[in-house]
Amino acid sequence: MPTPATVPCQYRTGKTLGSGTYAIVKEAVHIKTGEYYACKVINKKLMEGREYMVRNEIAVLKKVSKGHPNVVTLHDYFETAHNLYLVFDLCTGGELFDRICAKGNYYEADAAALVRTIFGAVKYIHECGIVHRDLKPENLLFRTKAEDADIMIADFGLSRVMDEEKLQMLTEICGTPGYMAPEIFKKRYTPFDRDTQQQEMEAICAGDYSFEPAEYWENVSETARDFVRACLTVDPTKRPTAAEALQHPWLASEKPHFVPDP
Ligand code: ADP
Ligand code: MG
Repeated sequence: MPTPATVPCQYRTGKTLGSGTYAIVKEAVHIKTGEYYACKVINKKLMEGREYMVRNEIAVLKKVSKGHPNVVTLHDYFETAHNLYLVFDLCTGGELFDRICAKGNYYEADAAALVRTIFGAVKYIHECGIVHRDLKPENLLFRTKAEDADIMIADFGLSRVMDEEKLQMLTEICGTPGYMAPEIFKKRYTPFDRDTQQQEMEAICAGDYSFEPAEYWENVSETARDFVRACLTVDPTKRPTAAEALQHPWLASEKPHFVPDP
């Protein structure tokens, strides 16, 4: 797939859409067709010694791209002397993170619909033998600005192809602390919104969380709370898989689970 650097650039980049640890993502227009894309620009110098990470991201994207409507599609890939470029279908609706902040709250039925879609896509990724390892609202993007836009799983930068022979438990420390599973944290450190990372780690490993602040949770149904509890199960062998989570009553029926009026 890499195109020699001698090929004239086919894209013109525009505004910055977002950035992460190693990359800046810019809007890009394909000069010939006028089609808009998202172009992840990775600085080779910054990635020095970790080029394998980008090769891994591309290999994984080749496996999962185009196979599911809720996984971002890698459209093109090329490099220059200084940068690596990954061209994706453009998601104009921005990150779930920003939408949650802008909305303030979700109707439970809408939240369940989003979670159902995300878990469906995660189930697909796992069936491809891939673990994403950095699922979080910053890496979930809306395809368009519409209220009911499709949500897409993006950023396979930390993902890994699972070796079929040794379906070992993953305990390598990676990901974003606040979103990491306890067995990953136990090796060293952790999430659950505490003052220090040490306290955060202890809370995650003990499964020590509560539905607080109370005003955020008072209108959340018992079924939804039970779903959250299930997903946060400390023991990974007892934690539901994506497929099992989809069978949970909160996701299994499309009917909302309203809290009855007091
Ligand atoms: P990193 O590995 O550095 O976190 P990401 O792949 O997560 O890089 O991209 C960084 C940010 O760029 C995302 O959080 C998102 O805001 C934006 N972005 C990434 N891909 C797209 C896309 N296809 N369409 C629109 N914005 C995107
Ligand atoms: Mg990211």
